[in-house]
Amino acid sequence: MSVLILIDHADGHIKKASFEALTYGADIAQQNGMAAEALLLGTVTDDLATLGKYGVTKVHQAGNTAFNQLDVQVYLKAITEAVNATGATIIVLAHNQTGKALAPGISAALKAGLVAGAIALPDTSNGFVVKKAVFSGKAFANVNINTAIKVISLSPNSYKVTVGQGIATVQELNLTPLPASIKITAVDKVSGDVPLTEADIVVSAGRGLKGPENWGMVEELAKTLHAATACSRPVADSHWRPHHEHVGQTGVQIAPNLYIAIGISGAIQHLAGVNRSKTIVVINKDAEAPFFKAADYGIVGDAFEIVPKLTEEIKKMHN
Ligand code: FAD
Repeated sequence: MSVLILIDHADGHIKKASFEALTYGADIAQQNGMAAEALLLGTVTDDLATLGKYGVTKVHQAGNTAFNQLDVQVYLKAITEAVNATGATIIVLAHNQTGKALAPGISAALKAGLVAGAIALPDTSNGFVVKKAVFSGKAFANVNINTAIKVISLSPNSYKVTVGQGIATVQELNLTPLPASIKITAVDKVSGDVPLTEADIVVSAGRGLKGPENWGMVEELAKTLHAATACSRPVADSHWRPHHEHVGQTGVQIAPNLYIAIGISGAIQHLAGVNRSKTIVVINKDAEAPFFKAADYGIVGDAFEIVPKLTEEIKKMHN
């Protein structure tokens, strides 16, 4: 019996959310006296043996490069085969875009109970109860999974990564992606240095910026912080920024370590997509803006004065 943690990757590198999932899965394994193993579909340049430091003893790699691009049907077939081959009974993956696309399918294929967006280790004192946030983080639910196989996707930034000394064994797993199943071809990539859903820091701006011509200072601050850029919905609706940057209830949902909101009022629909951020900094000229209630730090003032000064100060700190 083992816990199998699915490793998500892009451009040859393991995504940050997977390190959290690895620690989380390894801790579940330890809690339940099980082995902790990882599964990687495709190839990465990162050294897989070093994943042992997150607590897994073995990494199963299906190293066919056809797996390097996510195709849900192809992945589901491969993951089901891997679960059968390894005898895993708990499958853990990150609740990021990949995880959200895969977890329900894995659950259906394996007739397994699923908790999507877990935020804590299961409580096994009476069943197998996993805590998750519901209603955009406004409440919690404790879900008991009582199926033989269990699937848990872990909410990003909800579990502390711990790093030890272990070295994992890397074992090739012979899984063949069926070419007939591959229905997706990547034709383009969203531009930007830091992908929004994976970013540690996000600099976001709203209608308070008055127009697309004023985004230079937002991009400059983001570049200085190695951050991704985001925006409120009206900004994307007005075509000031591309729609893939729109965060909120109807946009991308994110949970970075730091979210800087500039000239955004903090409507409930916006907060629904960002309120799981670890630290929120709000810059708004209206001291009564609702966003200040959700902020860890607030700056009341004109963004056109504050943002360039903030960028300069951060640049000085880096020099
Ligand atoms: P505004 O509400 O116009 O706020 C602009 C802010 O900028 C104000 O607080 C103002 O004080 C401040 N400001 C102005 N000038 C300056 C300056 N010089 N310096 C500093 N601050 C300044 N919105 C989302 O963002 N994401 C969603 O996913 C989303 N989904 C929605 C779904 C539904 C069904 C509905 C009905 C709405 C949704 N909305 C969503 C829209 C949401 O209700 C708000 O209208 C929107 O978030 C407001 O965007 P904003 O804060 O950029 O603009």
